[in-house]
Amino acid sequence: MSTAHDVINPATEEVVATVPMRTVEETDAAIARAVRAQRAWSSLAPAERGRLLRRFAAAVDDDLEHLAELEVRNSGHTIGNARGEAANVRDVLEYYAAAPDRLFGKQIPVAGGVDVTLQEPMGVVGVIVPWNFPMPVAAWGFAPALAAGNAVVLKPAELTPLTAVRLGELALQAGLPEGLFQVLPGVGEVVGERFVTHPDVRKVVFTGSTEVGKRIMRGCAEQVKRVTLELGGKSANIVFADADLERAAATAPDGVFDNAGQDCCARSRILVQRPVFERFMELLEPAVRSVVVGDPADPKTAMGPLISAEHRAKVAGYVPDGAPVAFRGEAPSGSGFWFPPTVLTPDPADPAFTEEIFGPVVCVVPFDDEDDAVRIANDTEYGLSGSIWTRDVSRALRVSRAVEAGNLSVNSHSSVRYNTPFGGFKQSGLGRELGPDAVDAFTETKNVFIPTGA
Ligand code: NAD
Repeated sequence: MSTAHDVINPATEEVVATVPMRTVEETDAAIARAVRAQRAWSSLAPAERGRLLRRFAAAVDDDLEHLAELEVRNSGHTIGNARGEAANVRDVLEYYAAAPDRLFGKQIPVAGGVDVTLQEPMGVVGVIVPWNFPMPVAAWGFAPALAAGNAVVLKPAELTPLTAVRLGELALQAGLPEGLFQVLPGVGEVVGERFVTHPDVRKVVFTGSTEVGKRIMRGCAEQVKRVTLELGGKSANIVFADADLERAAATAPDGVFDNAGQDCCARSRILVQRPVFERFMELLEPAVRSVVVGDPADPKTAMGPLISAEHRAKVAGYVPDGAPVAFRGEAPSGSGFWFPPTVLTPDPADPAFTEEIFGPVVCVVPFDDEDDAVRIANDTEYGLSGSIWTRDVSRALRVSRAVEAGNLSVNSHSSVRYNTPFGGFKQSGLGRELGPDAVDAFTETKNVFIPTGA
């Protein structure tokens, strides 16, 4: 039986749209359409596949402002971020539009013949997306998958389907064949789970919580189904005593409170070398208090609301009465799922320091020396991102090598570029997205040997 889900603007609590959730039968029908579309797509000339992906990128570009405004209502993202996210979809499509012509195999010297490898598409790829970055996370899966010759069925999060549905319309407008890229709003346990169990879905790309990611990996194991996982994080922002403290403190709020902390790469643990701890906190306080929290449609706003009342209650649970709050910023009252930027100085055993909060709460703790900093940074089940602030280049490199995380940044908080690999160590994920090698994750290598005779 079909159900429907209200999409609620997190800044106003108004219902923006009501979206029907797909059933298992509808999902199966979509997968069957995708199988047919994929056969035709993979036999198109590579240059033609590239041309259609570039047209899709151009359609996104033409629709950029509309997509951004829709994302503000869909997910409460600030308009500045939402514009950047729509532009990211365009850039990722343009980047991978060049790939179909470059799916090179290898010619390997062997005895008695010629040996070549072929990079073949997998078939239908299922992409499952969380609510925190509905557009870019979708594109990181669908763009390289399509470029490699696959069809894609995409399930947005229940809370934020609207921009993904729009991307599906734009793909059709751009001339992508019917059935090749289908967006199926639905419940995780129904549509997402069907991607895992359906034998014609040959790969699942999942971005979301580590808990659901483990479940998906177990399900995929039943069919030895290929899987890429992008999961949670608890990233460290390590500030050494020799760092540019003014810049480290001024940028730390953006490193953790961007997207209201609902960012898998959020630098939610700030580790500060003991001799400069007090000074850093003095500099951090005005930076946190000046974060503009409010109407996400206003270009001056730096931080919008949390995604839902339920999520706000979860975040608030990490800041109970008596929590070690050092200082907090402001947040609006009234309608909307608001939560103020909050700085804690907890004990390292506090759940706020060890668990992913996924909200605007940051923990600051002191460390003694380089070994101590690396030990604390690595003392987590996660390993997604991290930042290292120091003026000593050798230390920056040493610590970058020692921290167990997939995306590190020196004297900045940058994690994602469409042309560099992105993904996690340990329980932050499996595989890498983006960058020059992502297309390989959507192909199977086939080896062909041709004997040449004596
Ligand atoms: P979630 O795991 O609850 O849901 C993610 C998606 O999975 C949703 O579309 C949901 O409907 C679907 N789903 C739920 N149960 C399912 C099931 N049994 N089978 C198949 N699909 C199912 O995560 P969320 O709350 O939407 O997102 C927040 C989490 O995502 C955080 O942990 C965050 O760190 C993580 N995240 C990671 C990255 C990354 O790249 N590493 C990026 C963004 C978000």
